[in-house]
Amino acid sequence: MRQILTAILFLSSILFCRGQEDDIRRTVAFLADSVGCRYPASDGDIKVRDFLARQFRECGMKCEVQTFDIVEYMWGDGTLQLIEDTDTTDFILGTDFAVSSHSPTDTIFSGYVAIRGTLTDSLYNMVRDKIILYLPKDKMSASPVSMSDSEQAGARAIIIGYPQRLKISQRVSKGNRNHQTRQIPVLQINYDRLAEFLPESDTDSCHGNIHIAPPSHRIRIATRHYEKRIQAANIIGTKQGNSGKYIIVGAHYDTLAPDPESGEPRRGANDNASGTAVMTALAKRLSDTPTEHNIIFIAFGGEEKGCLGSMDFVTRMPFQKKDITEMINLDMTGRADSDTLYFRQSNNTSISPTEIPSGTLVLTGGEGALSDHLDFSAAGIATSFFTTGEDPLIHTTEDTSDRLDYGSMDRITDFLADYILAIDKAGS
Ligand SMILES: [Zn+2]
Repeated sequence: MRQILTAILFLSSILFCRGQEDDIRRTVAFLADSVGCRYPASDGDIKVRDFLARQFRECGMKCEVQTFDIVEYMWGDGTLQLIEDTDTTDFILGTDFAVSSHSPTDTIFSGYVAIRGTLTDSLYNMVRDKIILYLPKDKMSASPVSMSDSEQAGARAIIIGYPQRLKISQRVSKGNRNHQTRQIPVLQINYDRLAEFLPESDTDSCHGNIHIAPPSHRIRIATRHYEKRIQAANIIGTKQGNSGKYIIVGAHYDTLAPDPESGEPRRGANDNASGTAVMTALAKRLSDTPTEHNIIFIAFGGEEKGCLGSMDFVTRMPFQKKDITEMINLDMTGRADSDTLYFRQSNNTSISPTEIPSGTLVLTGGEGALSDHLDFSAAGIATSFFTTGEDPLIHTTEDTSDRLDYGSMDRITDFLADYILAIDKAGS
């Protein structure tokens, strides 16, 4: 009788595990294969929000889609002319020069100074009321440019000479937490066209490190600044616990925009359909297990724009920091080399992952990464970050679902379920 029971238990555990692995496969397939691009506010993003909300609701959780705004700073439009006595040279936007996303809308007509290297104190007086043209150190490397020093020195505009290996492109959108629109126009110009601003044809032989253009040589600049507001979202599932304490389990689901060269979607299978699939599998796995903690599962949006979803969540968190026992972040969990799962903890975590039996998975302390746990760490909350490690193909069109190891994601889910339940015990 006992043998039959053991056999039944063994069989059901196989079936249960198979079910979980299939579920992980289905989630990755929907996110990375069916949808592909999950850039904030894209059609794919909207489809995935619904899909994830359904995953939470299907296992009986309360689900909330919390939206937040992202400002995208677009590369600007503009014109650039060099006027030498009676000669005028026009430069072509997108080919010769670009208007940086840092640039405000403005028009400037002014003399200029070309500088190679940094804007040292002794050069401050020479650039006042002039346009600064920053020359690259040489053909291959850029010149260090300080935009705030240039503004403080009273420059009218900044033109950054680009080294030969960089291509000027136009209209690429940026947008992250550190963006700052400057006070004065900021342009970039191709190495090929720099010589026209200098007294000699060879840009590498500018007199020393500074060239002050004669008064009859002037630059005319007109710039137009563009920014766009888009709406991103965090999808949040809540499993009720018996106390007022919380464990947060997060994974970002967004991707970059399609590849600007080919227009192909960057499907983000490992980064981070993998972590999202493990997170939703954990939600299903733990939904019926009684816990002391409330467990908040979050699919973060806007991570690739600078961890903006997690920043938004931490900024307007509906509960107190002291009530969060731990935040667990999963980013790139789909390619475990030799079944290795890396972790990194911060602040006062209650247990180390190495204390939990992990079967064939090898838990190894690893490097940190720029991901959604950082704002929680900075707020003093205990965090554990899990990843299967670096992957050279993330952020390319080759990060596809066929490269993932579903067996190890299944084992990672088993392990993390035990890890979360251990925190639930230890932290109550
Ligand atoms: Zn990521």
